[in-house]
Amino acid sequence: MKGGKINFTRHCFCPCSSTDRTWVCGAHDRGSIPRGGIGNGRRKTNMISLQTKIEELTRVGKTVAGRLKKLGIVKAQDLIYYFPFRYEDFSKRVSIAELVSGEHVTIPCTIDLIKNRRSFKTRKFITEAVVSDDTGTLKAIWFNQPYITKVLVPGEKIFLSGIMDASYQEMQFINPTYEKQSNDTLNTARIVPIYSLTKNVTQKQLRFLVKQAIHLADVMPEWLPDHIIKKYKLWPLQRSLAQIHFPESFEHIAKAIHRLKFDEVLLQQLAVYNSRRQIKNGIARQLKFQKNNIQEFVSSLPFTLTRDQKIASWEILKDLEKEKPMNRLLEGDVGSGKTIVAAIALLNAALQKYQSVFMAPTEVLAFQHYDKIFNLLTPFKLHVALLTHSKVILNGEKIAKKILYKKISTGDVDIIIGTHALITDDMKFKEVALVVIDEQHRFGVGQRKILKEKSLEKKYSPHFLSMTATPIPRSLALILYGDLDLSIIKEMPQGRKKIITKIVLPRERQAAYDFIKEKIESGELAFVVCPLIDPSDKLGVKSATQEYIKLQKEIFPEIPVGILHGKLKPDEKVAVMEKFKKGEIKILVATSVIEVGIDVPTATVMMIEGAERFGLSQLYQFRGRVGRSHLQSHCFLFSSKASEKTRARLHALIDAKDSFDLAQKDLELRGPGDVFGTDQSGFLDFTIAQITDIEIIQNAKMCAEEVMGLPLAQYPELEKKLQEQLKSVHLE
Ligand code: ADP
Ligand code: MG
Repeated sequence: MKGGKINFTRHCFCPCSSTDRTWVCGAHDRGSIPRGGIGNGRRKTNMISLQTKIEELTRVGKTVAGRLKKLGIVKAQDLIYYFPFRYEDFSKRVSIAELVSGEHVTIPCTIDLIKNRRSFKTRKFITEAVVSDDTGTLKAIWFNQPYITKVLVPGEKIFLSGIMDASYQEMQFINPTYEKQSNDTLNTARIVPIYSLTKNVTQKQLRFLVKQAIHLADVMPEWLPDHIIKKYKLWPLQRSLAQIHFPESFEHIAKAIHRLKFDEVLLQQLAVYNSRRQIKNGIARQLKFQKNNIQEFVSSLPFTLTRDQKIASWEILKDLEKEKPMNRLLEGDVGSGKTIVAAIALLNAALQKYQSVFMAPTEVLAFQHYDKIFNLLTPFKLHVALLTHSKVILNGEKIAKKILYKKISTGDVDIIIGTHALITDDMKFKEVALVVIDEQHRFGVGQRKILKEKSLEKKYSPHFLSMTATPIPRSLALILYGDLDLSIIKEMPQGRKKIITKIVLPRERQAAYDFIKEKIESGELAFVVCPLIDPSDKLGVKSATQEYIKLQKEIFPEIPVGILHGKLKPDEKVAVMEKFKKGEIKILVATSVIEVGIDVPTATVMMIEGAERFGLSQLYQFRGRVGRSHLQSHCFLFSSKASEKTRARLHALIDAKDSFDLAQKDLELRGPGDVFGTDQSGFLDFTIAQITDIEIIQNAKMCAEEVMGLPLAQYPELEKKLQEQLKSVHLE
């Protein structure tokens, strides 16, 4: 904290356990703060800093460190930036006599009696306690946690937090959170943060660890100048980081989140400004409209282009004729037919022997694009290559990487389709004149620069087209991405039918399976998407495998079922997808890693297990995998939770016009405790901010303009942050 200017009314978090209610007491301001000693921890005398490895914290050994790593927590600083996604409000304290069923409360009480017994039927441990205060006594029960009797002993004064359940004859507290009474609780008697967890890491444990590191929030440098903070009514960074974990009130949570979102959008905006400066001076190749050939190509397609596809293609072809590099975003909902528009642009460049690059986010998608474009463009005798980590193909034949590199550098390949390998591999293009990037929300600030650097001929900047299924409103897109032009495909290809979306109750499960069987018998295909059981199973191996075995062995023994999860190698994934497309696999069980953009027109059933566990934008993306032909498609949502809230969310999916509409509905549906969800990442590369944060985005844009005009030498922390940002964009 700078010179102790800001006086916060909260406990001193520093290890002296000072009772003076300032943020960090004078003795421990900045720098060398010993760790431990902040409440429940054992005191250790070592120092910790933002860079301290997590293993050096109290109660973290190798095993725990390994688990935390799965959550991306390696250093003390990562703990500070590991934000809760929700809160539980246990700040209301009541006496036993005041207890009301269904309310979130904390009861200060004393343990009178506590003992373990085994359940008669299941032989599982049940811990029962009788607790009391001046107004009465109450029974508390915990299942399967026999160690509690070692932690809590009669006579101890504790807080119990939870929701009272009065459905039993006597009032009792089931599985309440317990903690010894103090003024500095972590798990009870306050607004409690809820973190996303991994196997064998508990909320209590994470809170304890965050608490050990939280005083370091105070040594996080404030990178924004004072006058900016004042003008945009922001909270200081340090205070925001502290309050997002251990808030004093919901107002504080809102303020903290506002600041952290603002930071995130502001940094994105600064990157946009920076790239704009670079683009401004570039000159691009003028690519003439190859009218006859393009018309011939369009009329050779098995369908007619929609009006919006024609307009978008026209806008792109016009841009390509200019000397100014094209900077265009093509928006079109899932299944609206963006790929063909990209193909027209690629063909137009290739016909006049200019190289173009088509980048996709995954190998499966790159392969799909390659396959489609190579086949469609066959009559033009062009050279089309696929380059990913596992596959190197030229004109339908496997080829050695080295030979392909050579051909690309001499200009013997017209269209190069691939993944990030295209920019990370050590290869040179002759001269990239056009770049198309599929399904990326971040607007290729870094890629453009890198691709230019990888061209042997460096005089010209490439034209740039980015495609996304997120229908961001025009005004917002302009703010988010700067000076770009926008083409929008609103209209779906003719003959598409609305996907019938249904919430399936547990008793209707068998009927849904029967329905799938019927569809498969008539030659159609089905997807089954399963949620991750726990976040450490990031690749979804466990959850998908369990479902796969169940479906193949018990439900559909005579139908070929396949599986797609994150652990498969890229070429294995491509192989599974090919089998599915050919119908050798008829039901594909997949995790949420199921690729965006996958196009299998005969797939008509999308079954989503544990639908309540997915973000609405994710559900929307999954559903978009079907409904890609004239066939009637169905989407079945299974949910083990029948709560009102879950139902409302799933209904929002059924009712939403498009995914932007859905994002807004999602926001309206959240309660005060659900501040943001990690599942929102479907839209942009923001971790906290969302596209519905229009006001923050507008202000951050204004602020970015201001910041760009500041004399950086006078603001060293700002300069440092900008340097870091530039580095990360470059590596993007
Ligand atoms: P997305 O916009 O989601 O990337 P795709 O480009 O993958 O969509 O197209 C979805 C499907 O629609 C593909 O199978 C494609 O061949 C088909 N398609 C594209 N345009 C049309 C059209 N005008 N009429 C009929 N089908 C079309
Ligand atoms: Mg696509």
